[in-house]
Amino acid sequence: MNKIDVLGIKFDNVDMKEAVQRCKKFISSNGGNLVVTPNPEIVMRAKDNEEFKKIINNAALVIPDGIGVVKASKKLGTPLKERVAGYDLICNLFEEGKDGSISFYFWGSKPGIANKAMEKIKEKYPKLNVLGAHTGYFNDKEEKEIIEEIRSLKPDILLVGLGAPKQEIMINKYIKEGFFKVGIGCGGSIDVISGEVKRAPKIFIKLHLEWFYRLLKQPSRFKRMLVLPKFMNEVSKVAKKNKNK
Ligand code: UDP
Repeated sequence: MNKIDVLGIKFDNVDMKEAVQRCKKFISSNGGNLVVTPNPEIVMRAKDNEEFKKIINNAALVIPDGIGVVKASKKLGTPLKERVAGYDLICNLFEEGKDGSISFYFWGSKPGIANKAMEKIKEKYPKLNVLGAHTGYFNDKEEKEIIEEIRSLKPDILLVGLGAPKQEIMINKYIKEGFFKVGIGCGGSIDVISGEVKRAPKIFIKLHLEWFYRLLKQPSRFKRMLVLPKFMNEVSKVAKKNKNK
C-alpha cells in the first residue's frame, strides 16, 4: 500500500472515494479494522507517544483529516492527494448505508449527545441502521457493560468519539475480537451529527480555514492550536534535512 510519512505517521494516499471503498471492503472482511483520522495536532501528540504512534501505523486506514497534513506532505516532496476529513467520510458512509445495509453504533460525547445524534441522523435517513449509542464518559465497570452491548449488537461501523488517543487505544483494545468490522476514532464528529456543534460553513472549508472557524467558535481551543506552528516548523526541519541528503 502507498503510505506517506509525515513526522513518523504513515498516511494512506487515498482520496475520499477510495477511503469509502476501503471502508466498504473492511465491512465484508472477517476481522476488525481501525480507521484513524489524524490532523496536525494528533500527529504532534503521536510523534512523542510510542504506543499511540504504533497503533496509528498499524491501523487499516489512516486518512489526513487536516489541510495542514496535506500541506506538510507537499513540503516533504511526497504529496497526499487531498484532505479526507473524518466527518465527511462518516457522512459518506451514512449515504452508503442509508438503505439499512450498514449498521452503526455511536460511542462518545457528553451525556445525551450520542442519543441525540442517533435521533438526528434517523430524521435525515429514516432507514439508517443505528443499533445504539452511549456517552463517552464512563468508569471501568461501565466500559465493560458498554462493550458487552456492542459485542451483542455487532455493528459494522463503530464510531468512537472520546478524543485522541483514548478513542484509538479503546478501539485497538477490542479489535482482535472482531465484534465490529470498522472502528473509527471520530473526535468530535458525534457532537456535529447531533447538531450540538456546527461544522464550519462551506466557504471556510473551501478556503482551508476550518481550523480558524473552530477557533472562533471555541476560543478555549487556542492553547491546543499553538501546536500548529510547531508542527509546520518540524516539517520544515525534516524537509531541509531531506534536501541536504
Ligand atoms: N470525549 C468523551 N469522553 C472523554 C473525553 C472526551 O466522550 O473522556 C469527547 C468530547 O465530548 C468530544 C470528543 O470526545 O465530543 C473530543 O473531541 P475533540 O474534537 O476534542 O477531539 P480530538 O481533536 O481531541 O480528537
